[in-house]
Amino acid sequence: MKKLGFGCMRLPLTDKKDDSSVDIEQVMEMVDAYLNESFNYFDTAYMYHKGKSECFMKEALVKRHPRESFYLADKLPVGMMKCAEDKEKIFLDQKEKCGVEYFDYYLLHCLDKKNFKAAEEYGVFEYLSERKKAGEIKTLGFSFHDTADVLDEILTKHPEMEFVQLQINYLDWENEKVQSRLCYETAKKHGTPIIVMEPVRGGALANVPGVVKNMLNEKDSSLSAASWAIRFAASLDGVFMVLSGMSDMAQLKDNMSYMKDFVPLTEEEKALCLKSGTIIANKDTVPCTACRYCAEECPEKIAIPELLALYNKKINGDNVTADEYASLTKESDPSDCIRCKKCEKMCPQKIEIAKLMEKVSETF
Ligand code: SF4
Ligand code: SF4
Repeated sequence: MKKLGFGCMRLPLTDKKDDSSVDIEQVMEMVDAYLNESFNYFDTAYMYHKGKSECFMKEALVKRHPRESFYLADKLPVGMMKCAEDKEKIFLDQKEKCGVEYFDYYLLHCLDKKNFKAAEEYGVFEYLSERKKAGEIKTLGFSFHDTADVLDEILTKHPEMEFVQLQINYLDWENEKVQSRLCYETAKKHGTPIIVMEPVRGGALANVPGVVKNMLNEKDSSLSAASWAIRFAASLDGVFMVLSGMSDMAQLKDNMSYMKDFVPLTEEEKALCLKSGTIIANKDTVPCTACRYCAEECPEKIAIPELLALYNKKINGDNVTADEYASLTKESDPSDCIRCKKCEKMCPQKIEIAKLMEKVSETF
């Protein structure tokens, strides 16, 4: 398997304000181009694109390509479960939405301390092991968002997990909350193969501050900033797949150009990435990965991920125009935030969104 996975949470849209308006024609072109270059791993989930990502992958991938020509990964949204019966209801729904008889890779989605407890209570581990025995799941694992001690607990209690999906990137490597390095070392200690998510940290490492861009360009001006982030993750021993949520053909082509015949970074290049990470971390930007899990929850319909991206742009010293801000606040403004914190309950990065809305409002 080539190490570049096609993440299906940031598919191209026809309407930038509507996350369900996926541009299916463009997705088909991207899927074909990706398969043509012998890449073959697709990663979707129940929640992506307002619950429609799986259906779009059925149209663009499953219906148009032989089942054995690709690997499809899907995830059980443990955090959305209200009772034990939900696991089977959702799993059957997913098979229907994707149009498949089996998933090549299947994950308990977004395990942290709270979701792990819920998964145990609802018998999710046992149920998915049964699905695996029945041949409906080929490889079983989980995605993870918490500290390394929680990961250690899960892997100790569940040695049947065949892989783990971790948030690893050079910016979060030493981050106290994400603990990329510590989580990576924990998975290695257990001998668990690793899939990397958020290698570009929701786009933050594709649009790096000028000083970092200059450093990377000095090393090799032909490579994009994103390439450094993806190759950093792919160079780690034990990582067998790096996911990238690609939103247009240009991003896909750029990613494929250096992942087709992947060459791991040298020690010197890895050190350059980590130095870049330290510089960016000192800028005090918000660690939003633009996953959009919060967006649906906000009763005030505040454009949370977009506003945080704009805020980060400003912190990085880039120009932000009044029009850019106005286009995001036509219907509601960050000052409309009623501090209900429904968004924060969904945020895997544990961002204090309500507090930040006040800051964003003041800043602009
Ligand atoms: S805390 Fe503010 S931003 Fe978050 S869901 Fe409530 S109103 Fe929306
Ligand atoms: S604020 Fe949190 S939940 Fe919302 S998009 Fe960013 S990382 Fe995702």
